[in-house]
Amino acid sequence: MSDSVATIIAEARGAGRSLLSEVEAKAALGAAGVPVTTTRLATSPAQATAIAAELGYPVVLKVVSDTITHKSDIGGVELNLADAAAVEAAYARIQVAVEAAAGAAAFGGVSVQPLAAPGVEVIMGMTQDPQFGPVLMFGLGGVLVEVLKDVAFRVVPLEPHDAAEMIREIKGFPVLEGYRGADPADLAALESILLSLSAFATAHPEVQELDLNPILARADGATAVDARIVLTPA
Ligand code: ADP
Ligand code: MG
Repeated sequence: MSDSVATIIAEARGAGRSLLSEVEAKAALGAAGVPVTTTRLATSPAQATAIAAELGYPVVLKVVSDTITHKSDIGGVELNLADAAAVEAAYARIQVAVEAAAGAAAFGGVSVQPLAAPGVEVIMGMTQDPQFGPVLMFGLGGVLVEVLKDVAFRVVPLEPHDAAEMIREIKGFPVLEGYRGADPADLAALESILLSLSAFATAHPEVQELDLNPILARADGATAVDARIVLTPA
């Protein structure tokens, strides 16, 4: 498992990149036991439809780019594509939008992945603190994290009780407990992801920063649908 992570990191280094693509970041985290959507790179509309047929519809297409970090801001994410015609049209729209916003060199194809089942959007992240080393973050997604900064932090390595506590200490925790009759989220699944990230950070000190934004937390599990990894400078 760590071997495949090391290979992915070495390949990015070899190409002179410190930002892993969504496809690479999910492959690395998937190998480390984090549930992620299966995500593959397509560099043509025909390849995108072939991958979509293998994964099963509906699918999601997202821009793959060395320079773009917020994909949806520039029209780089197309959700809920039901068939091959929708995939081909979305591929073309993403390419046009990206080239208009950031130039032709910014477009490196698209990632193709299944549309995940809905859930509460949560985020997890890791940063390297100069004093404490790797620190994990947990919060609810969207406006709650951006505006209210309602997040919890723990220094790596995490014990199981740390993972349980950090999920429960955010102000937004009632949303995960089943707000207004919604099913409660699978907290054990979220705790398990935090512990996998803690082990991942310990095993790979060359990871400077990572973000899973969002993870969709359901009653029966949780799945990361977006992932970003930044390596330390070579
Ligand atoms: P960005 O680079 O803009 O953060 P994301 O990959 O996070 O792009 O996609 C934007 C939003 O689209 C996510 O916050 C999530 O709500 C939704 N989304 C992304 N991927 C999937 C997926 N595979 N299944 C369902 N929803 C998704
Ligand atoms: Mg995202």
